[in-house]
Amino acid sequence: MDLAAPFDARTRLGLVLPMLVVVVVGIAVTAATASRSQDVRQQALERFSQAEANNTARILSLRLQQDGHAVERMGARLAIRGGAMPESEWRADAGAYLSDKPWLRALYVADETGVQWVEPEGGPAMAGLVGAPGGTGMSQSDMLGRLHAGAVARFEDGSDGMTAYYPFADGTGGVRVLVALFDIAAMLRASRPAYDEDFDVALTASTDGPRLAGSGRAVDPGTPYGSSAPVTTSYDVGWTLHTAPTSSFVRRMQPRTGLGVWMSGIGLTLLGASLAFMAQLARRQAVRLADVDAVRRTSEQRYNLVVRGMAVGVWDWGIRDNTLGWSPNAMRMLGLPPDHKVADAGFFFDRIHPDDQPAVREAIEAHFEMGEPYAPNFRMRHEHGHFVWCHATGQVLLDETGEPVRMAGSIEDITEERAAEEARNRSERRLRAVTQSAVDAVLTTNAQGIIEEANPACERVFGYRPDELVGSNIRILTPTEHRRKHDYYIKHYIETGDSNIVGKVREVYGVHRDGHEIPIELAVTEYKAGDDRIFIATARDLSARKAGEAEREAFIARLEQTNAELERFNFAASHDLREPLRMIGNFSQMLLRKHAGQLDENARKAVEICAGSAQRMQALLDDLISFSRASDDLGQIETFIPVDMIELARQNLAEDFESSQASLETVHLPAKLRTNPTRFSRVFQNLIANSIKYAKDGEAPKIQISAAPYEQGWLFTLSDKGIGMRPEYCEQIFEPFKRLHPASKYSGTGMGLAICRKIVNNAGGRIWAESELGEGSRFYVYWPEAPMDTDAAAAVNMTGSDDSMTEGESA
Ligand code: ADP
Repeated sequence: MDLAAPFDARTRLGLVLPMLVVVVVGIAVTAATASRSQDVRQQALERFSQAEANNTARILSLRLQQDGHAVERMGARLAIRGGAMPESEWRADAGAYLSDKPWLRALYVADETGVQWVEPEGGPAMAGLVGAPGGTGMSQSDMLGRLHAGAVARFEDGSDGMTAYYPFADGTGGVRVLVALFDIAAMLRASRPAYDEDFDVALTASTDGPRLAGSGRAVDPGTPYGSSAPVTTSYDVGWTLHTAPTSSFVRRMQPRTGLGVWMSGIGLTLLGASLAFMAQLARRQAVRLADVDAVRRTSEQRYNLVVRGMAVGVWDWGIRDNTLGWSPNAMRMLGLPPDHKVADAGFFFDRIHPDDQPAVREAIEAHFEMGEPYAPNFRMRHEHGHFVWCHATGQVLLDETGEPVRMAGSIEDITEERAAEEARNRSERRLRAVTQSAVDAVLTTNAQGIIEEANPACERVFGYRPDELVGSNIRILTPTEHRRKHDYYIKHYIETGDSNIVGKVREVYGVHRDGHEIPIELAVTEYKAGDDRIFIATARDLSARKAGEAEREAFIARLEQTNAELERFNFAASHDLREPLRMIGNFSQMLLRKHAGQLDENARKAVEICAGSAQRMQALLDDLISFSRASDDLGQIETFIPVDMIELARQNLAEDFESSQASLETVHLPAKLRTNPTRFSRVFQNLIANSIKYAKDGEAPKIQISAAPYEQGWLFTLSDKGIGMRPEYCEQIFEPFKRLHPASKYSGTGMGLAICRKIVNNAGGRIWAESELGEGSRFYVYWPEAPMDTDAAAAVNMTGSDDSMTEGESA
């Protein structure tokens, strides 16, 4: 926007209008002021006039009083002399009296016959007296010796005057009168020299109306601004003074004042109008600047939006004419072609989801009225019928009167963000549900270790309610001696990222509310939310498990002890029993050999039974000894070739092979095996011997040994085609002394398979059988490879007892 651009007509009107208003108001105020000032002036003139009247009347009244007293004194002097005063003396007295009183025209002494003396000589002759003494019905004696003033006189020249007369008795019994004749005009002139020019004055007597003028200029009491004041009353004659400003004076006053008001009014009006204009201009410029700023901001926003990519659209709403600009990106957002024509702003409002429309309207109103940022989220209908979530931003532009003119901004499809947010919220809710119902205590803390959340399980594990924990430091759950260490770990981790806690599962001790320590399995993970680091600790109470473990370990220890005792007893007993048994066997043999002839048939059979039993007993004891030794440690561990060890077993059983015509086949045996070779050979020797022993009558035993990789070692399978057994016996045959046949039919102790199982189990493997009666049997042996690093340990632990294990074994 160009600040220097000329204003449009509307703006020009906006600039001039306030100025015109000021002019009209100024003129009105000036007129009112002028009118008011006119009133004030009139009142002032009236007051002025009244004051003039009052003052002049008071002066006149005083003068009349003074002069009256002088006349009275003169009359008194005449009365004392009884009129016998020589004329020269009277003349001197009267001359002195008249000398400084220009308004006193003459003094007369008269009697009934006429004027006796006049001073000054040849003074104005009176045309007559109006209201002369006695005229009001007073008797002459009442009037004698008293001054009477106020009668109207009329001079021969037509001018008006006033008389004051003093009747006195002359010495001859007659009455004479001293008369003073006042010239009213002169008296008025002498009384009011200052305002002579500006006011017309007149003294009127009630007997003669206004005709009696004193100033030489007639005053009509009805004249504008005229005033009057009483001067004196005598013989029912009321003398009143009238004043009125001269027309020139009134004129002089009026035009000056009115013009002044108008001049000032117009001056102030013009000043006000210019100020209004300047203010409007300044405001308009400020609005323009704001517009420029807003436009700059909008264009910056637009630029940013463009940079941000295709998903963001731009819109521009002409509020006065309800037009709407809707950018191609925004069109695409709603599935419309980029050049889709928009009729008006209704396009936007109609597409908003009905549930969201009130919120959008409210956001616009709040932006217009309170200047709140416009940034609502709402749904808009896509061309395909579904709704897309939108985020809009906008900025209104106001005209110079503050009315919204335009609003422009951006619109963005946030459906995906919204879905992601909802998914996040859902997963957060799920997570919360999980932690709320979790058996383990789950706590979150900030980087300072302050607990922010705790689940209900915390109460079961630590004895604190979740609300008691929130806000506390996690240290309250740590045993005192570990607290400092814990603080160090967290601090160290935050500073270096090295952790002894975070990301690991450890068994540690926590402390219960009641003070006792609890073994816990602690897993701490870290979650970063912006700059905040949140630690999530899961604590599993191991008390029960630990108690169970301890119990089991104690039980195992007891069992092992008992076992060891039993084995020791077994071993010792077998050893100790061997000796007497050998004696029984030897002596039985000796009896049969050397004294057979001395024995009858029955005795000889008894001795034979005795010798056979001793032999079986011997075998039994040997097996028992082997069995008790089979649980020793692993013995010598070596890497050997399994076929070799099986061959060794075969050689040990060479006689059996020969007598039974048995055949042995080995298939897929491993090239190498790492375990104790003697024991390996011993197990297979037992199994092969059984297969030969439990062959079907009249059939040469056929034995096959195969192997396949299995778990951490090999699974060997030995199968024969012998008599087999019912499946339910397949497990029982591994129990010590368990036999399925009488010794008379198949020799044996029932210890062979028990020894095998003990050896295999001891090596970490398993042995089991599958069979059907008459269908042959399969024996499975899982033999794990011994780990490499056990060599040294095994060598140290080697007792050499392995060799003795073969001693006296039976199959
Ligand atoms: P013994 O062979 O000394 O009796 P064993 O512990 O070796 O003791 O075997 C236990 C029992 O399992 C035998 O008495 C026999 O009944 C049965 N048995 C063992 N091997 C086989 C086999 N290969 N076929 C059939 N029965 C067998």
